[in-house]
Amino acid sequence: MTVMDRSDATPTLPGMPDPPGDKLRLSFSRVDTYQQCPLRFRYSYVDKLPGQPSPQLSWGTSLHRAIETWWTQKLPAAPPVDVLLQALYDHWDDSGFAGMGRDEKLQWYRHAQDVLRRHHDRYAPTFVPAVASEEWFRLDVGNDIEVVGSIDHVARTPAGGLGIVDWKTSKRAKTKQDVRGSLQLAIYALAAVDLWGHDPEWVALDFVVSGVRVTVAREDIDTEAALATIHRVADRVREEAYAPNPGRLCDWCDYRALCPAFAGDGPDVAGRAVVELASLKRKRAADEARIAQLETLIRDQLGDGAIVELG
Ligand code: SF4
Repeated sequence: MTVMDRSDATPTLPGMPDPPGDKLRLSFSRVDTYQQCPLRFRYSYVDKLPGQPSPQLSWGTSLHRAIETWWTQKLPAAPPVDVLLQALYDHWDDSGFAGMGRDEKLQWYRHAQDVLRRHHDRYAPTFVPAVASEEWFRLDVGNDIEVVGSIDHVARTPAGGLGIVDWKTSKRAKTKQDVRGSLQLAIYALAAVDLWGHDPEWVALDFVVSGVRVTVAREDIDTEAALATIHRVADRVREEAYAPNPGRLCDWCDYRALCPAFAGDGPDVAGRAVVELASLKRKRAADEARIAQLETLIRDQLGDGAIVELG
């Protein structure tokens, strides 16, 4: 579900911390965000402006933590439902509920309990502990691009193979056709080969709220198309192509007040100025670093006088 950014080395894009060397770091979330709106990508991953916590995000995080705890119990039989409910209590993420009244918050909490009880009903009869959970990967996809992420859940199949699951806490389930075209699952299928040396048998999105799992065979996942998408987005990011793409997601965008597509609609004029100033300063720093490199190169080749003449 989550994608972590663990890099802190020399930037290769203005303002974007990347791994050592010249690699561009992407993830499913980053590629997906770019495809939805390049400017939102820039605000989030280049400028690193914090997003707003929300009840939906916190609720989803809490459910993920509880489910992970349950599936990683190394027990011969299914852990009781209390393990799920206790994990929900222990790992409840309250950050998105700030300012919400007690009764409303309680509704969210009870809804999460109901979802977890249903999860237990669905999976306790066939429970086998996860082979891996929240498995971190770093995938080299060529052209100095690496894709990072973590796989929610890896199951052992009856034939001894692997099945990959991503838990979804959105209300609405997707169709099989959608899941076949899932960039996220294609990335996970590639990551499985990198991590365990062979393809998974299947990949699935499990919609925990509606209690629906949509599974597709590995053969039905188009990893070539996924790689082409990643490279296309990487090219655009390297060009710093960050045009806004207004659409229905703008209503939920944390950066709407900054966005030029809504100029005059947001009150945060100073915020926009800060973002643009930060961007220009990054560009200037990158230019200055390159100028210094070129001066050294010219001086080494032609001597100090050449630089003076360039003036
Ligand atoms: S408000 Fe809309 S167009 Fe502007 S950054 Fe957000 S998603 Fe993109």
